[in-house]
Amino acid sequence: MSIEKILEYQEVDMKLFKLENELKSSESAKKMIFFQNATKQSFDTLTRYNESAESAMENVRKNIAAFEEVNRQISDIASVDMSDCDEKQLDYYAKQLEKLEQRADELDREIARANKELSDINIKQKKEYEQAGKSSKSYRVYTEEFNNLKKEKSVEANAIMKDLKDLEKDMSSILLEKYKKVKANKKRPVFVPFIKPSSCGGCGMEIASDIIDKLGEGLGIQECPNCGRIIYNKD
Ligand SMILES: [Zn+2]
Repeated sequence: MSIEKILEYQEVDMKLFKLENELKSSESAKKMIFFQNATKQSFDTLTRYNESAESAMENVRKNIAAFEEVNRQISDIASVDMSDCDEKQLDYYAKQLEKLEQRADELDREIARANKELSDINIKQKKEYEQAGKSSKSYRVYTEEFNNLKKEKSVEANAIMKDLKDLEKDMSSILLEKYKKVKANKKRPVFVPFIKPSSCGGCGMEIASDIIDKLGEGLGIQECPNCGRIIYNKD
């Protein structure tokens, strides 16, 4: 058993890797992801605006109720028969009225402020809603473009996968298993050369001397403790 076959296998598999990367880094993939995020962001923003609108609305309701209560108190005082009141009582009512009127003015301003806030939110909601519509439309367009590109590439990819299957037939199952395990961790190439005097050809980390010693035994392969790739020694 030697590692020649698995290196051949890897060469073919790297073509698949290249195809996957071309697809992943394509303009349509980038734009698809961009507009997917933009759509999501718009909907998050809309949710926030809805919450703000609800709380402003609640504020308006509360202040209108308080305003009505103040007005009720004012009309209570207005209906008192002042002819029976002495000066002290008249003074008390005058002060009460003044306080209530001040409070009514405050509430009036507060209601106006909250109403303005509501209409501002409404304008922002409309804008964001339009934006969400545009983003989701672009997302659909680029998703379709991406899917077409994927279909195009899948012809080539399927041919490569068939080649890989054929190569697997007379390959060492131990090496193949190792290969697939590292590949599943999204590390490719899986088999990387040992770089003299002491580095992993995948991640460039320095390898401990006991591992380097073991590279001289058997198949001449060792797992890199840092990146998990399989280091092989050509010599
Ligand atoms: Zn490594």
